[in-house]
Amino acid sequence: MNESNKPNVQELFLSHFSKELIEKVFENIAEGIMITDKYKKILSINAAFEFVTGYKLEEVQGEKPSILQSGVHDRIFYIDMWNQLERDGIWQGEIWNRRKTGELYPEWLTIIEIKDKFGEVTNYCGIFTDLSERKIVEDELEKRALHDSLTEVCNRFAFIERMKVLLEMSAKKVQPIQHAVLFMDLDRFKQVNDTLGHAIGDQLLVEVSKRVNSLLKNKDILARFGGDEFVITLANIQHPREAAKFAEQVIRAFEIPIKIHDQDIYVSTSMGISIYPEDGETTEQLLNRADRAMSYSKENGRNCFSFYFEELQTDSNRLLLLDSELRKAIENREFTLAYQPKINTVTNDIVGIEALVRWNSEKLGFVSPAEFIEHAEESGLIIPLSEIIFDLACEGNQKLVAAGYPRIPIAINVSSIHFQQQSFLESVQTILERNNTSAQCFEIEVTERTVMNSAQETVSKLVKLKQLGFKLSIDDFGTGYSSLSYLVRFPLDVLKIDRSFIQHICSLDDKQAIVDAIIQMAHRLQMKVVAEGVETSQQVELLKSMGCDFIQGYYYSRPLPMEELIDFIHFWEVEHQGRI
Ligand code: C2E
Ligand code: CA
Ligand code: CA
Repeated sequence: MNESNKPNVQELFLSHFSKELIEKVFENIAEGIMITDKYKKILSINAAFEFVTGYKLEEVQGEKPSILQSGVHDRIFYIDMWNQLERDGIWQGEIWNRRKTGELYPEWLTIIEIKDKFGEVTNYCGIFTDLSERKIVEDELEKRALHDSLTEVCNRFAFIERMKVLLEMSAKKVQPIQHAVLFMDLDRFKQVNDTLGHAIGDQLLVEVSKRVNSLLKNKDILARFGGDEFVITLANIQHPREAAKFAEQVIRAFEIPIKIHDQDIYVSTSMGISIYPEDGETTEQLLNRADRAMSYSKENGRNCFSFYFEELQTDSNRLLLLDSELRKAIENREFTLAYQPKINTVTNDIVGIEALVRWNSEKLGFVSPAEFIEHAEESGLIIPLSEIIFDLACEGNQKLVAAGYPRIPIAINVSSIHFQQQSFLESVQTILERNNTSAQCFEIEVTERTVMNSAQETVSKLVKLKQLGFKLSIDDFGTGYSSLSYLVRFPLDVLKIDRSFIQHICSLDDKQAIVDAIIQMAHRLQMKVVAEGVETSQQVELLKSMGCDFIQGYYYSRPLPMEELIDFIHFWEVEHQGRI
């Protein structure tokens, strides 16, 4: 059969289907259809064409299809298209066109030449499907597979893929090549999430990834591994020093607070660094070691970075042990409290005592509360632990009353995680009832950071505690960036100036000026002031001269078991007031 004997599409259609049927299909088919004459001038379009392009028949009749041209493809593209059409009678492909609104969209287009029985072109027919929605879905799917949907940086999967390529290439290189893998974890992110809500937590993560991203170079990789964990690869570094410099930049970048809904949020981060190839030749090993170095940074005060070193292996074993031992200790109530007096500098009265938890673990020895409280906060163990501490403080109070000192309140440190619990007030009341004691015998210390979050709820909780009869202190003041005027809204009795200010008060003028200002302002707000961590008589004298009301610290007494504390009080009263 020669070319001209091939049945013509039109004829084929007309011979099989009625004109009405063809018209019905033409109008109702989901594909856009456009028919031109042999000069490529538009004769007819269907409803789907109108729908996709936005043009009505009157607007395009007599025009050339180039009315839809997007400008995306160059001249060569169209020349090739028409050449192929002339050669094969058909062209198919993806093409970008422009709607009447000006919007560009991709379509899958088939153009067919329609010839008469002499082989002469009479018409062209274009049939197309709008791909824009499919494209959006495809792009989205691709993005989701490789990107973290919240921050749009790489996800774990994409990170591992890119590392594979990077490490394979590096292994082939003759000259030695180094990369740094940084594991980064935000400090106290759980607290932000718990107190300010997940929506703000999410926004914070987006801002964090933007700040880190702005510090990166072309080949570097930033990925979010989920939660508040980020991983960064610094490719082709000359020296590990570069990684240290980068980590310092990250720390500095977070010194400026992140503003979300007019609220300044301070974040800091702890980082761990491993170096390829010294610390590992596989992604897994590098990640593992950077992660361990990160945990080490957390244990060493946060807001810092550490390089991996061999001894960390044993450290991570300790964390595991700490976790399991702490669980057992809570089960068996293996804790005690140590009590430290607070002294009125003018009258020499013992105005209160602070209860500090102590844990002497069979396997781990004495563990500092700073270490295990933090772990308890991160693992949720703080709630049962906090209840044990309250119970112990009630026992302590009974001993104090029995020894003849019913009016010395015991201050209990309350973790912000416990404080933020919906059931906090209830649980405290239950404990008081269970121990048959009253709130008047206690003081509650909440940190400045605790009250900085979700102010309204915090205010009403503090007011209720106050109504119950607790005295309220704000702990570690000066470390949380809140201004004193912010504190007016809280019903606080006492402000405790953080030890970090007291430490250098005799040698650093600026610390002295700050402490002086805090005392003046606190007095104006009708609050009493306690200086924490006072160790020397010079500090006592200076603080007295500034009008500081109460002093707590090793200078007077270390934290003591209740029995020893009672002896101390006894001795103190004899010494200072001649009372027995
Ligand atoms: P904090 O509430 O600021 O407690 C004061 C810390 O300073 C205590 O450390 C105390 O022993 C120590 N200290 C007191 N005077 C001096 C001094 O003159 N010099 C020095 N260098 N240190 C002094 P400790 O007992 O190790 O507690 C550390 C932190 O652990 C506490 O800081 C508090 O945040 C937390 N913590 C302790 N006990 C509890 C508790 O029962 N519940 C909760 N939620 N946290 C607790
Ligand atoms: Ca305290
Ligand atoms: Ca404190």
